[in-house]
Amino acid sequence: MKVLVCGGAGYIGAHMCRMLASAGHEVFVFDNLSTGHAYAVQWGPLVQGDLLRPDDLERIFAARSYDVVMHFCAKSLVGESMRDPGGYFRNNVTGTVNLLDAMVRHGTRNFIFSSSAAVYGMPHDVPLAEDHPTAPINPYGRTKLLVEQLLPAYDIQFGIRSVALRYFNAAGAALDGLIGEDHEPETHLIPNILRSVVDKHTGPLQVFGDDYDTPDGSCVRDYIHVNDIASAHMLAMDHLARGGTSQVMNLGNGAGFSVLQVVDTARRVTGKRIDYQVMPRRPGDPPVLVASATKAHTDLGWRPQFDTLESIVETAWTWHRNRAARE
Ligand code: UDP
Repeated sequence: MKVLVCGGAGYIGAHMCRMLASAGHEVFVFDNLSTGHAYAVQWGPLVQGDLLRPDDLERIFAARSYDVVMHFCAKSLVGESMRDPGGYFRNNVTGTVNLLDAMVRHGTRNFIFSSSAAVYGMPHDVPLAEDHPTAPINPYGRTKLLVEQLLPAYDIQFGIRSVALRYFNAAGAALDGLIGEDHEPETHLIPNILRSVVDKHTGPLQVFGDDYDTPDGSCVRDYIHVNDIASAHMLAMDHLARGGTSQVMNLGNGAGFSVLQVVDTARRVTGKRIDYQVMPRRPGDPPVLVASATKAHTDLGWRPQFDTLESIVETAWTWHRNRAARE
């Protein structure tokens, strides 16, 4: 199939392009390179453009037709979204509306959307199933929910069928260390832990809050390997190709790990000492996010391959060591 991967130069998008190409699909990348990297675009041509510039979209859609659009372009940092809600709204909501409108104009009818566990807000029941109430507590989560809420209208009015995949915490890297998580500045937990090990200048890890109502007081998250996220997209694409209906699904391992448990796991995997300092809570962080991914298991037949935190952190460690050796 011909797949337009918006955000294909980014962390998850690049792993997606690699998996698509190795399965024989044709990959086309659209990315503004604001947080992604040209070096990560290795499996299809890159068109540098921005969702907020409809002319850029027109260019890529006029060039050829696509069977499916996967949409990974987003600002995705909870803390940043608290400081810049307008920027998040413009980029994540207006940008997606521009993309959907371009799809309507050019007759592309299959859409896979990167949503987020952040749509749930404060969990009432854990693990979270898709029918748990959605009440995001930060602007990032609100932008993802707003798009989810628009998708049924594009389905009814224009026949754009979609799968919105609510990622829990994407982590890990390619097994051969070729691509991995590369943000500047980095804000995510696992890369920050590993950077504190390989880069002497970063200082000790900061742990945001140890007074949450969780077993050890630090926040609990469900970490899911980036290749498992990509494999769910492959299955979602097959679902739409078979004529399947629009869906919303969680992607997680169904196991929660606290920040301090992740630090312990990284100690075991790296064999290194990891110092940390406890800081105040980070605004916008819910205490616990753990997925029920039963729907993706039953409806898509999805089975995550990396079902232990160790195996996920090991792949991230390979990437970080390779990266440090290159610099
Ligand atoms: N976190 C932390 N120190 C860091 C980065 C993250 O304590 O340097 C915590 C953060 O407060 C959250 C968890 O680790 O509770 C996961 O955060 P991350 O930014 O990786 O993902 P998010 O859950 O925001 O998508």
